[in-house]
Parts: sequence; C-alpha cells; structure tokens
Amino acid sequence: MKNITIAIDGPAGSGKSTIAKAVAKKLSIAYLDTGAMYRSVALKAINLSIDPCDQQSVTEILGDIDILISVDGENQRIMLDGKDVSDEIRTPEVSRGASDVGVNPNVRSFLVAKQQSIAGNQSVIMDGRDIGTHVLPNATYKFFLTADAKVRAQRRLDEFKLKGIEKTFEEVYQDMVSRDENDSNRACAPLRQAEDAILLDTTNMTITEVIDFVINTIQSRTQC
Ligand code: C5P
Repeated sequence: MKNITIAIDGPAGSGKSTIAKAVAKKLSIAYLDTGAMYRSVALKAINLSIDPCDQQSVTEILGDIDILISVDGENQRIMLDGKDVSDEIRTPEVSRGASDVGVNPNVRSFLVAKQQSIAGNQSVIMDGRDIGTHVLPNATYKFFLTADAKVRAQRRLDEFKLKGIEKTFEEVYQDMVSRDENDSNRACAPLRQAEDAILLDTTNMTITEVIDFVINTIQSRTQC
C-alpha cells in the first residue's frame, strides 16, 4: 500500500489527539502528537528557569535538546534528554509555555524538520496546529476539528480531574481562550484551517461519531 499522510489540526480541546490516536490504531499507521514536541521544549526551558517567551535563550537550548517519541503499546511516550516526561508535559504551566515557545520561528523550523522526517518514510497521522498548512501541505487527507470553547474547556477540565490536577472551569476556560488567541495570532505558522481541509465541528458529536466520520471519509476517498 502507498504511504498515506493525515493531518489533523484544530484548537486545544477539539479532540484532535483522541481522534488521531484512534484512527492510527484502526488504520495501523503511526501517530505523532506534535504538541508534545512543543511541550518538551517548553518543559526544558522551564526546568532551566528560562522564560518560554525569551526567544533568544530558548533558541540556544535547541542546540542541546534530545526529544524522542516512542510507542509503548497504544501509548506514545515522550523522552526529553533521556527522561520520560509524558506526564510532566501535560500541566497547565507547560501548556502555556508550549504556546509561548511556539511563537519562536527557530523552535518551529527545528521541530517541523523533525516532523517532516518522521513522515518521510511511513504512513502517519499527525495532530497539531499547522500540519495541513506547513508541516504536510501535501497530506493525503486533512481535517480541521473545532468545537465550542466552553465544551472544549469542559473536556480539558475532565482530563485534569482524571489526572488529579485541581483547576476551576473558569481557569481552564480562560487559559484555553488565551492560548487559542496566542496560537491564532502569531506571525509564524498560526493556527489556521488549510484551504483543502475538511472542517468538522465536534461540539455535539461523540468521540465514536468523529472517528467514524474520519475513517469513512478516508475510506470513501480511497475507493474513488
Ligand atoms: O496540542 P497541544 O495542546 O499539546 O499543543 C500545545 C501547544 O503547542 C499549542 O498551544 C501550540 O501553541 C503549540 N503547537 C504548535 N504547533 C503544533 C502543535 C502544537 O504551535 N503543530
């Protein structure tokens, strides 16, 4: 079978990673969570007491950073400089830091090169903000997921509860809106729907419905 590439973009909490993971499993192809890479750069900066907004200092750490994504069963594990940081990168502080390092063009070109090389020799589904527009502009399939901001915040709050992270709905909602704004308004590769991406509003959809939509779309187009 010819390699296929699937781009899934959208704002935080739109369901990208849940859907991408499930579709990867159904199609037996690789999954790459590109947000985890931005989160890893942010975590390294935070651990070194570098402000994620300090573009010069963050650029300097790129010369000495080792980000490795490995698959353990159905789970993706993220190794930063040899340490498993899969859980550590999911805190609200790192989410904000990831959005701040994502503004830095040097961080973007460094990570995009890695993402493109992963996609170069295998079938892959990638989720992020700029996959359909910049990382894989020629992706075989492109989807842009969105959902009402309050619904997205509630989904994120539920995830935090499961992980024992205590936050109020208002805090999660405000963090999310501010991160969306930062991601959408940066000069370099902002969060945008690619012109040829299929838009899907998941506000009133179950996870299963979204997965079925994506799989059916891929299968119907493959048969054409
Ligand atoms: O997807 P996730 O919420 O883990 O991403 C964290 C942050 O990383 C996003 O808010 C965004 O600023 C940045 N990001 C990005 N481009 C991507 C993936 C993530 O700028 N392809």
